[in-house]
Amino acid sequence: MYRCLGNIHVHSSHSDGHATIDQIARAASRAGLSFVVVTDHNTLKGLPEEGFRHGVLVLVGSEINDKKNHYLALGLHRPVPADDRHPQKVIDAVNAQGGLGFIAHPFEKGSRLVHNYLRFPWDHWDVTGFTGIEVWNWCSQWRDNAQTLPLALWYAYLDPAGPITGPDPQAMETFDRLTRSRPLTAIAGSDAHAWPIRRGPVRRTIFPYEYQFRTANNCLLLEQPLSPDFAAAKNQVLDALRRGRSFIINNLLGDAPGFSFTAQSGNTEYHSGDAAPLPAALRITSPPCRRLHHRLIQNGRLLAAFSSPPASFPLHTPGPLRLEIYKNKKPWLFTNPIYLRPAGDR
Ligand SMILES: [Zn+2]
Ligand SMILES: [Zn+2]
Repeated sequence: MYRCLGNIHVHSSHSDGHATIDQIARAASRAGLSFVVVTDHNTLKGLPEEGFRHGVLVLVGSEINDKKNHYLALGLHRPVPADDRHPQKVIDAVNAQGGLGFIAHPFEKGSRLVHNYLRFPWDHWDVTGFTGIEVWNWCSQWRDNAQTLPLALWYAYLDPAGPITGPDPQAMETFDRLTRSRPLTAIAGSDAHAWPIRRGPVRRTIFPYEYQFRTANNCLLLEQPLSPDFAAAKNQVLDALRRGRSFIINNLLGDAPGFSFTAQSGNTEYHSGDAAPLPAALRITSPPCRRLHHRLIQNGRLLAAFSSPPASFPLHTPGPLRLEIYKNKKPWLFTNPIYLRPAGDR
């Protein structure tokens, strides 16, 4: 498998972000990313700017809806009208174009510091046909956990990742529940805007793009190296996201060279997003580091926890199986599930 690291859910000056798409691509290049997905609010104005820029694959989607039920849509050709009250219509319109989409920051809480708890939650869980859930939104989490001005200033100047605790527990619980019935893809979103704050003596850009691109990223697992041809590369990225062939990584805690999470069944090796027949053996390769804590989650429950993974872990129970790794007790790596199926079940 070939790894392809990128950042999803980025706003440019086509909506309320503070850089052009080209400047965003340059920041992504400096941060070492292979792809970046720009999702401006209710517009596809950036679509003609898709392509390879500064060596980075730039894809343009859209974050659809206004006051609630934000949906991150990718692979669109035409704008999809917002419909806050009927998100199923939005999902269906995206699918009708052959696109894919993610429920964004579904459980954000807001802060009294920002427009008195202004928030954009998802409130329609009877929807179908979406590709996955943004289980970790960096900006939402930062704001949710910085509830007083002294705390927000402390974090902004001295401890930028202080409010960051990992994927949202409610979003993860929902993801675990829903993946028992059908595969979904968990992604992290930065929601990067590079907001300039100008209040009294405070002059600060809340998270420049390049900083944000070194935080929670999505590492795709590709069967071939990312193609230099734009159309082919776009297909590779969208296909991996659609299949859940990815893991979330918090790059503030470093890269994870050599990391792998596979299930061996018969002579076949299965990866995140795959359905694997039982019985199978789980193989985890983690970077050598003494301060890791692995949590294996199946059907939403803790199956096992260990500091260094066993050479092989026998699997007998059907259901989605995923791995979380914490480094120095901080959230580092979160895989998409492998879906274990009884032998003979397709
Ligand atoms: Zn949003
Ligand atoms: Zn957004």
